[in-house]
Amino acid sequence: MATREVENIFADILERAKALDPVNTRKWFEKLTVLHLSGGSLEIGCPDEATRQFLRDNCKNSFTRAAQQITGHLVTVDFNVEQRKGLLRRSRRRESGLNLHPDYTFDNFVVGPSNRLAQASCIAVSQSPGNTYNPLFLYGNSGLGKTHLLHAVCSEAKQKSDKAVIQFLSCENFVNRFIRAIEEGNLAGFQSQFRTVDMLVIDDVQFLSEREQSQEEFFHTFNTLYSNGKQIILSADSPPGKIPSLEERLISRFNWGLVARIDPPSYETRVAIIQKKAHLRGLSICDEIAEYIARKVHANIRELEGALTTIYAVATTTGEQITIELAQRALEGQIESAARHISITDIAEVVTNHFDVRLADLQSKKRSQSIAEPRQICMYLARNLTKHSLEEIGGHLGGRDHTTVMHACNKIGEAKSCDPQMHTLLNELTKQITQAPQA
Ligand code: ADP
Ligand code: MG
Repeated sequence: MATREVENIFADILERAKALDPVNTRKWFEKLTVLHLSGGSLEIGCPDEATRQFLRDNCKNSFTRAAQQITGHLVTVDFNVEQRKGLLRRSRRRESGLNLHPDYTFDNFVVGPSNRLAQASCIAVSQSPGNTYNPLFLYGNSGLGKTHLLHAVCSEAKQKSDKAVIQFLSCENFVNRFIRAIEEGNLAGFQSQFRTVDMLVIDDVQFLSEREQSQEEFFHTFNTLYSNGKQIILSADSPPGKIPSLEERLISRFNWGLVARIDPPSYETRVAIIQKKAHLRGLSICDEIAEYIARKVHANIRELEGALTTIYAVATTTGEQITIELAQRALEGQIESAARHISITDIAEVVTNHFDVRLADLQSKKRSQSIAEPRQICMYLARNLTKHSLEEIGGHLGGRDHTTVMHACNKIGEAKSCDPQMHTLLNELTKQITQAPQA
């Protein structure tokens, strides 16, 4: 095929893929190229490792369907960084394990009074790790941008110094790897992995709460890195002294450097964030609609994005222009009617149907993934769509206590923000729940 022809076909495939999955469409799709198209395989070139990972995780399905629809043939799709092959292999090895989200950069982070200190200290640390604020400790409620900033620091530090060894993981992951190392009798391996890095970034350290042995291990890791002048960055949902049952010596170390709080964003910051998120998806959104969303959703930026996604999804399914009326309809359907009538039973019914499990399973003690995940999703949706307390939700789902429900809500909330498939699923379930005829 002539190059020109291949490019035209690819342009059509790209347009179709965007239409098939608007939630995962990004403005930088414009930079994608076709590396190879023939014999039933399409290889797409992307600018870097982070975008490749995003595409492989989120877009394979929509691109495959789009390619099949446009060409009329079975086509397999893959994504690769557009570089010479030798370079490609090297960069893959270097980046392995450091799974950075391409959306979570400093450029895409909107700064306002609520997060200025956190953002500025993250930039300072990324420019000169180990030399400014050490440790850097960010804290704030869920959905206010802690994880976003941690990704941004890592991307920036990696760009500045290719050779820097960075470990970035959630505290839950740190604890699980520690436990596995003990079980496998490979503590030395674990320790060398964490004590020899240039930068250690751990998200959600409140997870150390009540885990004494992990705290002990973390204490020694901290000391080794700190005394070698290596950078440590931590995040949590509360300041060091407020994390329940955290050892005094850890609290004091976490306070050695800079502790930066992130507050809920002001109205102006919320408007700017909505505009930024729309721009990132290649959407233009008028001020009136951005302001409408910012007035409706206050406390949590994840929910702001959810509102934008809902509006966008309604517009693509109905083929309408995004107007203020459409935005009102889309959000009122989701938020207001939800708060008025929905019961946990409505939610459980939609969730059990979707996953093909029984309510009795959700209420049972079973902990297999195929039951636990629907149960957690049920808890998350009940928390967001009804006014029931954590205790009531736990009570309805097999007499579980409020910490279990809270853990489930955090976990699913996190998954929603970093896994677009979960995002789509939750929106879809929410739509079914809010649109179901009320009893
Ligand atoms: P946290 O880790 O504090 O719970 P996240 O970092 O996961 O919050 O942020 C939730 C969502 O909100 C992410 O999609 C993130 O990109 C977005 N977000 C948070 N703060 C900002 C900001 N200041 N500018 C742009 N997006 C933001
Ligand atoms: Mg987070």
